[in-house]
Amino acid sequence: MSDHKTILITGVSSGFGQALAATALAAGHRVIGTVRRETDARAFERHASGRAHARRLDLTDSAAIAEVVAQTSRELGPIDVLVNNAGYGHEGILEESPTDEMRRQFEVNVFGAVEMIQAVLPAFRARRRGHIINITSMGGYITMPGIAYYCGSKFALEGISDALGKELAPFNIHVTAVAPGSFRTDWAGRSMQRSPRHIADYDALFDPVRQARKDKSGHQLGDPSKAARVMLDIIENDTPPAHLLLGSDALKLVRDRLAEMSREIKAWEAVAVSTDG
Ligand code: NAP
Repeated sequence: MSDHKTILITGVSSGFGQALAATALAAGHRVIGTVRRETDARAFERHASGRAHARRLDLTDSAAIAEVVAQTSRELGPIDVLVNNAGYGHEGILEESPTDEMRRQFEVNVFGAVEMIQAVLPAFRARRRGHIINITSMGGYITMPGIAYYCGSKFALEGISDALGKELAPFNIHVTAVAPGSFRTDWAGRSMQRSPRHIADYDALFDPVRQARKDKSGHQLGDPSKAARVMLDIIENDTPPAHLLLGSDALKLVRDRLAEMSREIKAWEAVAVSTDG
């Protein structure tokens, strides 16, 4: 029996999604990749004729999510792996950023991902197999000023992944939350939504952060093709992790954050236990 899988990846037009799709196709897997533009669909299907299938989908369109998954399963058979990759970063000081920006951030990064999961789960459960990979971020563990909405969405997806993994373990369905550090993709370039500045009080804190992120775009430490190789290994692993950090920056920042949390918990331990009845 072939161990080649059918992998559904959202957002294969650039970055991690494109790199993972290319790596999976090269390894002989079949990939269904979602894109928003017809030109991206054509470019994707040129990858590997017969094994690269593009589907047009905007993750803010709930009805289309269910339809694309149902139609794809009818046409191509069962999906083995869902990779919730599509997403973007909102950057802006919270007080300056309209909550509509937050809603949109959560629509794509959280609700879109959850609706994709709900669309594949009935078939995964029926077959008692499947793997869901959610691309979260080190911003799902640590925070920085100016990306509160983004971190909120990635903390949400980390938490959802963790609970979901416990619900699905009895059905032999794996859930892995992959949290990358800074990688060379379009994330901080064309994809980032930046709320305009207007409160001078935040200039000193935030202007250097915004400028540094712009300057670093395209020169980040992480190589998406190496991340893709690791993610494919995770897909091919029978005992994949529930959480995986990618990148030495993510590793250091998350470790520092956990140590800081431990210190704070210890410092306030007596207060924490003082409320027991
Ligand atoms: P990217 O190159 O900008 O790719 C983002 C992908 O998501 C594109 O294919 C984009 O499609 C798609 N997308 C965005 N909004 C969408 C929507 N509403 N509906 C459908 N597709 C949509 O950036 P990336 O870094 O590869 O991002 C992939 C994931 O990694 C994201 O979830 C991101 O938050 C996460 N991440 C990135 C980094 C990093 O440093 N790069 C670090 C941690 C986590 P279009 O081409 O149509 O815009």
